[in-house]
Amino acid sequence: MSADQPVVLVVEDEAAQREVLSYNLEAEGFRVARAENGEEALMLVAEEQPDIIVLDWMLPNVSGIEVCRQLKTRPETRGVPVIMLSARSEEVDKVRGLETGADDYVVKPYSVVELMARVRAQLRRTRPAAAGLRLEYEDIVLDAETHRVTRHGDSLKLGPTEFRLLSTFMEKPGRVWSREQLLDRVWGRDIYVDTRTVDVHIGRLRKALCQHGGGDPLRTVRGAGYALG
Ligand code: CA
Repeated sequence: MSADQPVVLVVEDEAAQREVLSYNLEAEGFRVARAENGEEALMLVAEEQPDIIVLDWMLPNVSGIEVCRQLKTRPETRGVPVIMLSARSEEVDKVRGLETGADDYVVKPYSVVELMARVRAQLRRTRPAAAGLRLEYEDIVLDAETHRVTRHGDSLKLGPTEFRLLSTFMEKPGRVWSREQLLDRVWGRDIYVDTRTVDVHIGRLRKALCQHGGGDPLRTVRGAGYALG
């Protein structure tokens, strides 16, 4: 399993429901972070930087609605899609009316197949490479499903690490990634790798991208990290 598998934060106070949901998400290839209540969820978002949040409406103390509202107010979590779970369809109407900023709503009891489809739909927007889509940046084309990369029509030979680095860059052209952020995303947060390793693989990626000619599309941002374009 690649280190850049999308992270889903599941916020549900009922242990049995939380486990069933987590089990199914893990079976689909996601990494799952679990929170039992709103306070824990708001703490975990900073630590886990989830790609998507599945949030139950009925939570003790801080309700799902309030958690969603807070997530959508903070600049660092505003862009993370939230799928709200609720027990009744009237609640969904109410959530919509409250304009919490939730990106989607699913009524319990939900079908696992439907929920997974909704999760993938949100990820196609925010993590297109992880969702297996085809990404383009200028003359570079990356097909996340077949793991093929071409530049100006010529196919490029890339190692697995360079491929993951490139898909990270191509998901958000222009974004500056620090070495630490690239380590977390590409190598995984649980293993220790020296940040200089990032520089080595960036060097290899640059070489690979220019193997049939063309300029270097990667930019070194002094004191900050790397960006595509
Ligand atoms: Ca609940």
